[in-house]
Amino acid sequence: MKKKTTAKSAKKELKMKKGEKYVCDSCGMAVTVDRACECGACDIICCGENMRMADCCC
Ligand SMILES: [Zn+2]
Ligand SMILES: [Zn+2]
Repeated sequence: MKKKTTAKSAKKELKMKKGEKYVCDSCGMAVTVDRACECGACDIICCGENMRMADCCC
């Protein structure tokens, strides 16, 4: 029996993934994650604030 390691956590996931886009609401700068970090929760700061994911259009 194989055990899959698809950890589906219901927790708030702040982990960024490769290819994700982040934008700054203040200046409009956009970045794409070229290489995900492994430190768990990492934020990209621009204009003194966390950049938000471009995927969600809120
Ligand atoms: Zn900015
Ligand atoms: Zn990091």
